[in-house]
Amino acid sequence: MDQSVRTATVEAVLGEADGVIPDGTSVSVYADVPAVNGLDPALLKALRRAARAAALHGIGLRINGGWRSPARQLRLLENAIERLGSEEAARWVATPETSAHVAGQAVDVGPVQAAAWLSEHGARYGLCRVYRNEPWHFELCPEAARYGNPPLYANPSEDPRHRTVHTSPIATGP
Ligand SMILES: [Zn+2]
Repeated sequence: MDQSVRTATVEAVLGEADGVIPDGTSVSVYADVPAVNGLDPALLKALRRAARAAALHGIGLRINGGWRSPARQLRLLENAIERLGSEEAARWVATPETSAHVAGQAVDVGPVQAAAWLSEHGARYGLCRVYRNEPWHFELCPEAARYGNPPLYANPSEDPRHRTVHTSPIATGP
């Protein structure tokens, strides 16, 4: 099947209610859409404060990705696995069970200069970067105003929150 037909089919099944913000588009931090309304209120409040400050510097800070339904997250992961293979996909996309986006606790901001501005000034508003390979991804970190942005993980696969520890009875033998 033609890739564009496929993408259109996927978007028809999973839409705005699943937190979809179509690729190449963004929404305001005040948009009345599930991707924004589903965010943790404290995260959204911090983001709006930061966006107002950014605007004073002529920077329009927008949201490329916010809350996502588990189904949407799964679709993103499946698409990434198809494109990149499972090992590389894990460096970019979390599972529905572990994704901070599904929990409403992460936001992807744009455009590039707004992400760069937030990377420099976000700690003041309690917004932190988490992954070196995702300069657009921010989460709430209330202590950053005092201690600064904590060290970054290289990518999501290094994030201990994304690891499910399975204790195998075979592996724990003598
Ligand atoms: Zn993200």
